[in-house]
Amino acid sequence: MNDPIIEKLIAELQLLPSVGERSARRMAMRLFANPESGQRLAGSMTEAMQKVIKCPKCRNYTVQTPCLLCQDSKRLSNNLCIITTPQDLHTIEISGAYNGQYFVLHHLLSPIENIGISDLGINQLKSLFSQSNEISEVILALPYTVEGEITASLIISTIEPFEVPITRLSQGMPAGSDIAGMDNLTLNHALSQRTSV
Ligand SMILES: [Zn+2]
Repeated sequence: MNDPIIEKLIAELQLLPSVGERSARRMAMRLFANPESGQRLAGSMTEAMQKVIKCPKCRNYTVQTPCLLCQDSKRLSNNLCIITTPQDLHTIEISGAYNGQYFVLHHLLSPIENIGISDLGINQLKSLFSQSNEISEVILALPYTVEGEITASLIISTIEPFEVPITRLSQGMPAGSDIAGMDNLTLNHALSQRTSV
C-alpha cells in the first residue's frame, strides 16, 4: 500500500479516457521518476484548468473570448457546421475541406446517460440565429447513430423557424462512425457530397 497522496494521484489519473488502474500507476511512477517533467505537467494542467473556457459563440474550448476561429475574418461567416466534439472540429480543420463557422454540442442527446437539451447549448445555438441573419447554410456533421439521429431532429426543429437550409454529411460516412475517427479523404467526400434535410 502506497502513501495516500500517491494513491490519490493514481485514482485521479483514471479520470482520463482509456486509463485504467495499471496505466495510471505506470504514469504516476514515470512522473515521480522525472519530477521536473511532472512539475511542468502539473503547471500546464493548473493553468489550462484555470483559463480554458467554452467560447461564448461556438462553444469550442479556448482562452480567448470569442475564440481565435470565431475572430478570424478570413473565414466564411455564412456557413455553420454543427459538430459533436472539439476533436471533430480539429479533424475537419486539418482536412482543409471547410472554412466556415462551427458550433460544438459537446454531447449527443441520450436519455439513458441523462444528457438533455441544456447540455447541448441549444439556447446558445438559437441566439446565434436570432442575433444575426448572416448564416445561409447549416451543415450537420453528426454521426449516423441513434443518438446522432435524435440530436439531428432536435437541431432541425430548433433551426426550422429561421428558414436556413440544412444539409448533412453524406450517408457515405461509415454507419456509427464519429467524425474524429474519419480519414481526410472520407471526410472531404462526406462534406462535398452533403445532402439537404
Ligand atoms: Zn468560437
